Amino acid sequence: MSNPDKRFSFEFFPPKTDVGKEKLEKLWTDLNTLNPAFFSVTYGAGGSTRDNTFSTVEKMQAQGLNVAPHLSFGGDDEKEMNTLLDRYKDLGVDRIVALRGDIPSGMGAARIVYANELVEFIRAHSGDHFHLEVAAYPEIHPESSSYTTDIAFLKKKLDAGANTAITQYFFNADSYFYFVEACKKAGIDKPIYPGIMPITNFTNLCRFSANCGAEIPQWLKRKVESLGDDKQAIQEFGQEMVIRLSQQLLDGGAPGIHFYTMNQLEPIQSIYKAVV
Ligand SMILES: Cc1cc2nc3c(=O)[nH]c(=O)nc-3n(C[C@H](O)[C@H](O)[C@H](O)COP(=O)(O)OP(=O)(O)OC[C@H]3O[C@@H](n4cnc5c(N)ncnc54)[C@H](O)[C@@H]3O)c2cc1C
Repeated sequence: MSNPDKRFSFEFFPPKTDVGKEKLEKLWTDLNTLNPAFFSVTYGAGGSTRDNTFSTVEKMQAQGLNVAPHLSFGGDDEKEMNTLLDRYKDLGVDRIVALRGDIPSGMGAARIVYANELVEFIRAHSGDHFHLEVAAYPEIHPESSSYTTDIAFLKKKLDAGANTAITQYFFNADSYFYFVEACKKAGIDKPIYPGIMPITNFTNLCRFSANCGAEIPQWLKRKVESLGDDKQAIQEFGQEMVIRLSQQLLDGGAPGIHFYTMNQLEPIQSIYKAVV
């Protein structure tokens, strides 16, 4: 199968330790041989990885890679945000994943800047310099009051000047296809790239999915349960399942895939090679 016209990207989180940093550098060097459209580096909830995200992006840019920092207001004020945007621009960054961001516990009363407001802010400060990606939720954002409202808010951030959207991960291709159709009916005509999560540590995946509202289908859970403690069998099954999902998405017209790498080469590299 060949998908030369589709867009593929890889997401990392900024490592905390020196060992993690070394490992990540090796990882992006390996993944860069696959010629992705860009890499992205996440932003800790509330801006908690502000410096670490910046220094990771700085290092990648210096090596000639195309990198998009994730960005949210977190605890920053307008002046600090303007400075950060200018610093990214000076590094040569031309793409940003603009988010409200996760709200850290204990920050409930803090000012919330929705993604559409951040997009407006970036456009007002930096004009059209950055290509802006925003988040989309085929299974609907967990805090959203309804399916329709969440799509209306996605439209709002795209109308505010975002160029493209990347979805939260999901394991059911129909949720993506139905969502894209619903978005089109709501007047959204910008590309929506599915985000794909590998299945590696199933316990962690279940915990994380419960928080972010991604559904793990019952059959998938039961199948993994039936494999018991056989880690290799779970990984092989997870890989087969994610390859199948990725192929379904691309065959069904998805414009590309954004891979949540979890800072690991495998199984992402094998999944990528199987579908691209
Ligand atoms: C591709 C991708 C990358 C991500 N990267 C990170 C990351 O690096 N760091 C991180 O902390 N989190 C990240 N997240 C998670 C994301 O930050 C959370 O899902 C967060 O809760 C919502 O962010 P958002 O930008 O989608 O918010 P918004 O689009 O602002 O939406 C948040 C919620 O508020 C509602 N809403 C939207 N606009 C308005 C408005 N104007 N008024 C009232 N309600 C509104 C929406 O329906 C939704 O329920 C990522 C998610 C995705 C899909």
